[in-house]
Amino acid sequence: MPRYVDVSVQQIQSYLVRAQHLKGRRGASTMITRATSKGAVTQCLAGLAASLHGEAGAVDGVIAVRLEEPEAVLTDEVTGRLVAHLRSTLPAAFLVSTYRDGASYADAVASDTDERRIARHLPVCAEWPAAKRCDWCNIWPASSGIIDGAGQDARHREVCRDCVLRSDAAGRSTQEGWKSLAETRLHRHLGDRPGTGPARELPTDFEQLGCLGPVSGEHNHVATVLADGNAIGKLISGLRQAGDSQALRDAPRTIDDATWAALTGAVAKIDGTDVAAWRIIPHLVGGDDLLVSVPAHSAWDFVRAYLGTFGSEVSTLARDGLVPSASAGVVFHQIKDPFSVVADLAHDLLKIAKKEHLGQRAALCWQSITHDGSARVRSRRSVTLDGLHGSWDALARFARVRKSQRHVLARALREGRDIEAQLDRVLSGDETMRSIVEPFLGTDPPIPLEQAIGMVEWWWPR
Ligand SMILES: [Zn+2]
Repeated sequence: MPRYVDVSVQQIQSYLVRAQHLKGRRGASTMITRATSKGAVTQCLAGLAASLHGEAGAVDGVIAVRLEEPEAVLTDEVTGRLVAHLRSTLPAAFLVSTYRDGASYADAVASDTDERRIARHLPVCAEWPAAKRCDWCNIWPASSGIIDGAGQDARHREVCRDCVLRSDAAGRSTQEGWKSLAETRLHRHLGDRPGTGPARELPTDFEQLGCLGPVSGEHNHVATVLADGNAIGKLISGLRQAGDSQALRDAPRTIDDATWAALTGAVAKIDGTDVAAWRIIPHLVGGDDLLVSVPAHSAWDFVRAYLGTFGSEVSTLARDGLVPSASAGVVFHQIKDPFSVVADLAHDLLKIAKKEHLGQRAALCWQSITHDGSARVRSRRSVTLDGLHGSWDALARFARVRKSQRHVLARALREGRDIEAQLDRVLSGDETMRSIVEPFLGTDPPIPLEQAIGMVEWWWPR
C-alpha cells in the first residue's frame, strides 16, 4: 500500500502577512511557490523512491509526495530532507509533516487520526534582547540591510533573515518563473475562458488595483476577501463512513476545482470591458481556501458570485442533509492600511460567519476599516448568502439614494434609542424613501438597516 507524505506550511495565511505590507506578502508567495515547485522538490528527493503526486491538485504551501511502500527509514529520510529544504527557504514558517497510508490520497486523508503521524517543526531564531528588531516584521532581530522602494522613496531598512529573502523574491515576483502559484494558476484559468481575448495582466500592488475600480474617485480603497469551505472535514468523514469510495477519491479535486471555478467566475463577473488588467490580486488560492483583494466597489458582486458558484460546484458532494458551502470575511480598507491588520480582521470576520451559522450555510461578515476602525465591531452579525441574494435588488435601490440622505439615516440610528420613532421623524411624509428602507427594518431582516447603509457605501451601480 502506498504511503502519502505531506510537508506543508501551517497557518500559511499568518506566514504570508508576517511582514506587514503587500510587498512582504508577494515575496513570501513567490518563496513558497518556488520552494514547493516540482523542480525544487525533485532535486531535493533525488535518489529516493518517492515522487510528487497531483492527486489533491496543486495547493499553495503543500508538498505532497507518494512512497510506493510504507517504509519507515525512507519516510524519515524523505520527511527530513523536505523539512530541511523548506526551513532553509522559508526560515520563519511553521512546518508540519504528516504521513498516512491508503490506496489513494483521498483514502489516506480520510483515515482516522491515529493512523496518521504528525510532526510539527517550529521556526527557530536566536534571540538577544538588545538586538534591533526587523523593520519589516518587527518580530525577529534584524540581520541584513536592504534598499526598500525606488527613486526618491528608496530607504535603507534593516531586516531579519526571513524578510531579506522576501525582499529579494518580491523584487523578482513579476518575472516569469518567479510568480506565485495563485497568480500563475489564476492567469491560466482566466486565459482558458472562452472569449477572453488576448492575455491580460494581474495588478501587482494595491495602488494599481484601486485604480481599476468601476467607480471613479475611489482609487484609494480596496476590499480583501478571505473565504473557506464549511463542514469539509465532516463531509469527508461522512463519505468515508458511507463507504462512498469514488466520491471520497474525487472530493479533494472536486473542492479544489470548485474554488477555481468560483474564483474565475467571480473575476469575470466584476470585469469591465474598458479595464486593462483583471480586477483582482490573488494572495492565496487552493483547496477550499481563498484570500484575494478586489477594488472596493467590486466586492459585493465578487463575494456573491464566489459563494454562489462554490456552493453549486460542490453540491455533488452533499450527503444526508450535509450540504457543503463556503463562508467569507470581507474587509474594506485603504490601500495604505497594514496588510497584516487587514488579513487578521478578515480572519476574525470569517470565524464569526462560520460560527453564527454553525458552518451549515454560506454566510459572510464584513467591516470597513475606514468607517468602523480595525477592531472588530462586536454588534455586527453575519449575513447569509441567501439573505444577500434576497436583498440584492433592495440594496441596489438603496444605493441610488443620495449619500447625504443615507448619512441622515445613519445618524438617526446612532442617536435614537427608539429606532422606529427616529425613522418616523426622518422619513416623515417621504413614502418613496420609506419603501426603499422597508426591507431593512423589522425584527429580524436578512440585512439590518445599519449594515445596509455601510454595504451600499461600496455599491457598484450598474
Ligand atoms: Zn523580519
